Amino acid sequence: MSHTTTVAGTPVDTRHWINGVRVASADGATFADHSPIDGTELGQISRGGKPEAEAAVAAAKAAFPAWAATSPQERARLLHAIADGVEKRLEELAQVETHDNGALIRSHRRGVMPRVAHNFRFFADWLTNDLGHEDFDTNTRRNHVSWDPAGPCVLITPWNAPLMMESWKVAPALAAGNTVVLKPAEWSPLTASLLADIAAEAGLPAGVLNIVQGYGAEVGQALTEHPDVRRISFTGSVPTARHISAAAAANLTPVSLELGGKSPLLVLEDADLDLAVELAVEQYDNAGQVCLAGTRLLVHESLQEAFVEKFVQKANSLVQGDPRDAATDLGPNIHPRQLEKIDGFVQRALAAGAQAVIGGGPNTELGGLYYRPTLLTGLAQDAEAVQEEIFGPVLTLQTFADDDEAVALANGTRFGLAATVVSGDRAHADRIARQLVAGTVWVNCFYVRDLRAPFGGSRQSGVGREGGTWSFDFYCDLKNTVTAQESGWVQ
Ligand code: NAD
Repeated sequence: MSHTTTVAGTPVDTRHWINGVRVASADGATFADHSPIDGTELGQISRGGKPEAEAAVAAAKAAFPAWAATSPQERARLLHAIADGVEKRLEELAQVETHDNGALIRSHRRGVMPRVAHNFRFFADWLTNDLGHEDFDTNTRRNHVSWDPAGPCVLITPWNAPLMMESWKVAPALAAGNTVVLKPAEWSPLTASLLADIAAEAGLPAGVLNIVQGYGAEVGQALTEHPDVRRISFTGSVPTARHISAAAAANLTPVSLELGGKSPLLVLEDADLDLAVELAVEQYDNAGQVCLAGTRLLVHESLQEAFVEKFVQKANSLVQGDPRDAATDLGPNIHPRQLEKIDGFVQRALAAGAQAVIGGGPNTELGGLYYRPTLLTGLAQDAEAVQEEIFGPVLTLQTFADDDEAVALANGTRFGLAATVVSGDRAHADRIARQLVAGTVWVNCFYVRDLRAPFGGSRQSGVGREGGTWSFDFYCDLKNTVTAQESGWVQ
């Protein structure tokens, strides 16, 4: 059986990468990976289980002491070499990712893959500039705080932004001196395999980065239960986060959880309407499969009519179709199960009395996994479509009469990942932003973020923060060494 598949002209190894070697699963099991664009089978991928989890953690554990002792300069050099490899293979990575998860080639080329390289560079640079150390001295004692690498880290990622999320976790974990076992999502396993090639070409020592493929309930579960794992960083859904937290609890392994959202986009009475509409339509990006998406449009009642008119005009101009075409704005959703889930939410909302201002079902002209961009109105705050993450191109619209009502609606879900405020008055926007429960608040913009800033969610949108210093705090064990200054020295 061949262990390579060719996607858009690029050969991709379909096996695990453990201790610097490609290996198939011990029992030979594989699973099929399909393209959301047209359902083509892209390859048979090795389906890992407990033996592969054991082998990968053992490799990470064995490689840890030497990697932890490698100088920050050398670690930084290797991370920059990985970034060079990503930049060199940018077009291949963009093509393979688009075939694998259906997101736009345009976004992969312009935004996502350059950001993957930047994630490696950012944490490499941080390492040589400022991996924290602090001293607190008194006359008699010196307290020295060090950020020690924690050990093998398990990183588990979703399919909506595969290599982006993987690099966001792998880069700081490695920079901090940890070794890694990465488990990519089973619906988008391919670019992680290319990352293994790039890391090997860059000269990363064997066992420092290991990649195991397979299902969450199988190899994922075995990894999170492993007693030799020192950190688990997870991005994905709330139900999976509960499984992972329970598995981690057995060994008290620290977890970082970046989860779902139902973020509000508030259009205040003094908002620039064109900007508000532009930002609102942006929420259909990646066919709505963005954790941060502001899927709940909250619009001041005085603006509703004009907002809806402009919104419909703009949304209707979006080009839906093949994501490999640079002119496409809206591609397919990831999987038949996801499409069914999205449509289930919409049909139940319509049956309960909501109206679809646009959309309201799959795009039957295109067929396949394309869902028409949808805007639902006539929903109460406790409606399922307002409370639950749909993860498709479906927005809801509610109106408010004053700021208190806007804030109550915005904060009225179990999530707290992000929020967007559109306002023409800085003080007004600040007043609202301060009252919102969210890990990130954007004012008159969306989706942009400096890597030095903390990222994560409140309430059920997550536990902990990553980004900048916060990544190192998570991936390191902080140690305080107290040294007596004036006694005990023999030499
Ligand atoms: P998911 O929870 O189904 O799967 C995520 C990963 O967890 C996959 O790799 C999967 O194989 C693995 N997994 C599943 N069960 C497991 C188990 N029992 N043990 C260990 N691993 C297991 O999520 P998804 O559908 O792939 O991704 C979509 C979700 O991710 C959405 O809720 C979205 O909001 C969220 N997300 C959040 C962020 C963020 O930064 N907050 C970013 C992207 C996506």
